[in-house]
Amino acid sequence: MHFNFDNSYLSLPEPFFAPVKPTFVSNPQIIIVNETLTKELELDLDAGSPDCPRFFSGNQLLSGSQPIAQAYCGHQFGYFTMLGDGRAILLGEHVTSRGERLDIQLKGAGVTPFSRNGDGRAALGPMLREYIISEGMHHLGIPTTRSLAVVTTGENIYRDRGKTHGAILTRVAQNHIRVGTFEFAARLGEASFLQNLADYAIKRHFPHCLNSPSPYENFLRAVIEKQASLIAKWMQVGFIHGVMNTDNMAISGETIDYGPCAFLDNYDAAMVFSSIDVQGRYAFANQPKMAHWNLARFAETLLPILAKDPNESLTIAQSVLGEFPAIFECYWLKAMQAKLGILNEEKSDRQLVEDFFSLLQKYHADYTITFRNLAALSTELPIFHQDDFKAWRIRWQSRLSRQPNPIEIAYREMNLHNPAIIPRNHRVEEVLAAAEKSDFEPLHTLLHCLKTPYEDKEECEQFKQAPRPDEIVEKTFCGT
Ligand code: AMP
Ligand code: MG
Repeated sequence: MHFNFDNSYLSLPEPFFAPVKPTFVSNPQIIIVNETLTKELELDLDAGSPDCPRFFSGNQLLSGSQPIAQAYCGHQFGYFTMLGDGRAILLGEHVTSRGERLDIQLKGAGVTPFSRNGDGRAALGPMLREYIISEGMHHLGIPTTRSLAVVTTGENIYRDRGKTHGAILTRVAQNHIRVGTFEFAARLGEASFLQNLADYAIKRHFPHCLNSPSPYENFLRAVIEKQASLIAKWMQVGFIHGVMNTDNMAISGETIDYGPCAFLDNYDAAMVFSSIDVQGRYAFANQPKMAHWNLARFAETLLPILAKDPNESLTIAQSVLGEFPAIFECYWLKAMQAKLGILNEEKSDRQLVEDFFSLLQKYHADYTITFRNLAALSTELPIFHQDDFKAWRIRWQSRLSRQPNPIEIAYREMNLHNPAIIPRNHRVEEVLAAAEKSDFEPLHTLLHCLKTPYEDKEECEQFKQAPRPDEIVEKTFCGT
């Protein structure tokens, strides 16, 4: 296996990272390797070779790797904390022949200077969970970090719910710079450090900002735009991140750090799955508001470099931040219009969409199945038999008839925006329970079907179905 490492993050000043090697593990075993992704990354990899578990566990460092843990802070549920990679180790940046630069990170690779009281390890369940959901998100068309491999370490680790298998996930990301990395830079109290980080992030992700007269203002705007687009995509598929702390928000605009995340079954705007989110801070419909809150923390960090005059900085930050709700609204409405097969613009579209959401809420209808079957009414959903739904449907049909294109085109478009298959919570739990008992067959079956979420494949029928009452997952856990 060969990585083309070129580690630009090390050009940042020392406080931003700490060199650290993965801790040796006793008996690494491959659980899964993402062969499609290895090809996309142009890795010349033989999944059966003994080098594979050695590399994916961190026992062997490949040439060019310069492992580090990254420093960052974060607002966790509203409270500021010093953090940093406590169990993740960045092996290096792999550059493909297409010029893509990707972070290769081991998650669960042992203690680092930022581990605090943690053991630096990860459990098999949560690492497979991240693998499944991140790959599912990718195939749904949502920007996300990817998962390259999971190995077990051969060592037991101890968590709230008892003894479990230690595991390591190899994560691939455009970058791991978080809003929290900027909070860390701001806290260093030297504008030059902050500027180093901002220049680095701009160069890596938003090079178009470089030559503008106000690069940092444009950078802020670009980050806001990416987040608005990302959160609208989450809302489109019913994804609830669960821990949208500022340390879990990537500047690149990728979904990152899959913990107690989940997908809506029955629609409920106030839905919360995470056992630790007792106040519903990160409830489904709160996500845009919380993203805006996080972006305000981000904008604050940039104040020293937005303009020379502090008052002017504040005015710029407030004005750019103020654009978020309208930008989000625009992405969201576009996504929802697409879900309803609406391909042109009418003023009343927002009302039509909102009225549909009121019905979903009123009847707690399954989010995915309702949208997917709206055109054909092919499923015996109780909502389809309600008078107020039927009245709404007449309005919707007449809206579609006012488009220049035939209705079949609208329906086809709907199928491209309404997935048939999402990583349903109960299916994910089932797969993890089997994996815990070393049965990985269900994992592969689920991953196979998640690759084509917008298709109706016969062999994937089981993953389209909503949970039976006894299968419903009510709570998810961090399990870190
Ligand atoms: P997360 O909930 O995975 O986003 O993690 C929040 C913070 O806790 C990050 O700084 C992690 O590096 C750290 N952390 C989580 N689990 C562990 C662990 N087992 N050992 C050390 N640090 C950890
Ligand atoms: Mg995190």
